[in-house]
Amino acid sequence: MKTALITGIAGQDGSFLAESLLEAGYRVFGFVLEGLPLGNVEKLRDRISIVYGDMADFPSVAEAVEKSMPDEVYNLAAMSFVADSWKDPAGAAKCNAIGPLNLLEALRRIKPSARLFQASSCEIFGRAESCPQSESTPFHPVTPYGIAKLYAQLMVENYRRSYGMFACSGIFFNHESERRGPQFVTRKITVAAARIRAGLQDCLELGNLSSKRDWGYAPDYVRAAVMMLSADSPRDYVISSGRASSVREFAEAAFSAAGFSLAWDGEGVNEKGIDMKTGRVIVRVNPEFFRPTEISSYLGDSSRIERELGWRRSVSFEEMVRIMTEFDMREVGAL
Ligand code: GDP
Repeated sequence: MKTALITGIAGQDGSFLAESLLEAGYRVFGFVLEGLPLGNVEKLRDRISIVYGDMADFPSVAEAVEKSMPDEVYNLAAMSFVADSWKDPAGAAKCNAIGPLNLLEALRRIKPSARLFQASSCEIFGRAESCPQSESTPFHPVTPYGIAKLYAQLMVENYRRSYGMFACSGIFFNHESERRGPQFVTRKITVAAARIRAGLQDCLELGNLSSKRDWGYAPDYVRAAVMMLSADSPRDYVISSGRASSVREFAEAAFSAAGFSLAWDGEGVNEKGIDMKTGRVIVRVNPEFFRPTEISSYLGDSSRIERELGWRRSVSFEEMVRIMTEFDMREVGAL
């Protein structure tokens, strides 16, 4: 029986991963920040072992490694909301850069044979010179979040080269699901579409509608992480859907799944989303949701992992938006 240690197990990806590893017969340990609710893994409480601690605190990370003595480690713990990294850049560095370093160092000292997956991010590309972005695209992060994630990715590569550890990074592009936190634009939209349909909310306020992201379905990305740790050798891979859609397009698809027909009027901060069936304004732009620096578009090229490990996404953009919107409609009794 294999043992896995999942940091950030209570989050979106951690919960999908815990379910899939339990199903595959793994013994699962989860590392959770003291005081954080178990959220999505509450229902797995009696099938997993929880170790409380803080990624920024080396002794607690080392204790988690000692207690679990894992064969595989998935480092999913992070300050995951990019906008928060502007409010607390030092916190982002502690969690997203020093945290992974603590884990690498604990593994090197205590269990160097363990295989480590590091969740990296397309934010390391930032102001990229080429499109789509692949493993050979130069890094140019422009957010405190992306800069910290790049430090972690380079450290993972450094430990792999220096100590021969099986450590690799999955460069995840945005990946969403019905378990996504409501502060992310996708879930913010699907929750609002459901609530507006149920008469619980009048209107949704958004920031930059033209911003494009490469949005995939989270369970597909978690599957890629498991495949990377089962590979013959450790290698970093881009994991993406290969399609970029704008916030505007995401909103159209979600409101359509909730039974609205969204059309746009005006430009920039004056742009409005109108339901063509009733003439009601259901989306407004609010400058408060704009970012200090913004990357207008991310698009990933995951052909290397498709070629070398046979990974494929299984859920399309439209299916994902429908799954999320219908989940939120059921939550508010609108379906
Ligand atoms: P990120 O790509 O990891 O930062 O994921 P988010 O879901 O937070 O944001 C995706 C994109 O949506 C970014 O380009 C945001 O600027 C844009 N966006 C537009 N309106 C909003 C909003 O109201 N909330 C959030 N979170 N993002 C928004």
